[in-house]
Amino acid sequence: MNDVITIDGPSGSGKGTIAKLLAKKLGYSYLDTGALYRAVAWQAEQKKINIDDESALDNMLKNINISFENERILVDGQDISAEIRTAEISDLSSRASVKPAVRSALFDIQRILCLQGKVVIEGRDTGTTIFPESENKFYLDASVEERARRRFKELKIRDPEMTMDRTIDDIRNRDLRDSTRNSSPLRKTDDMVYVDSTGMEIDEVVSHILDRLK
Ligand code: C5P
Repeated sequence: MNDVITIDGPSGSGKGTIAKLLAKKLGYSYLDTGALYRAVAWQAEQKKINIDDESALDNMLKNINISFENERILVDGQDISAEIRTAEISDLSSRASVKPAVRSALFDIQRILCLQGKVVIEGRDTGTTIFPESENKFYLDASVEERARRRFKELKIRDPEMTMDRTIDDIRNRDLRDSTRNSSPLRKTDDMVYVDSTGMEIDEVVSHILDRLK
């Protein structure tokens, strides 16, 4: 299974940037699975659905229409790429992601999107659950402080009230939820190449991954 490269790791580890660059270099397409969880959270908010109500989310997901166009994410044809990048949607998507009904609906969408060609897919469970058969699996990590610094830079642009302390708290909460949930928790397995990007330049990380591809 050499057509799918998986990159998993915690929030702010740089998966998105690295996966996008890698895909470009290899001529692969790129799938940001976190955007799918964020789209679910966004849709629930639009429809005033309680994010902790699994059966309401399950019903909502029967009719959701999520698509990608040139790396933009659309729900029912509406481009929501910018709206899903807020701290509020980060928190809601993390809460939605612990629900097995949400994971199961998104499992099918992810498999279908990837089976159409060569793809770099990134998220929390892409190497463990979505494409366990992939031969090129990576786990990208960085220290909490470095991840918070990267996230803070992005969030501050949209929300001037955001503070570094709140960003660190958000990251710690999401790390805990992602790694302790029952359904497909974030974890590194023995068949993944571990990359700690703390203090590394983006290009260095990309070259390192390219060197390790089978
Ligand atoms: O990667 P990103 O921060 O955009 O993901 C948003 C949320 O979606 C994460 O906090 C995580 O809880 C969830 N997620 C997940 N499994 C994935 C990708 C994202 O549970 N494969």
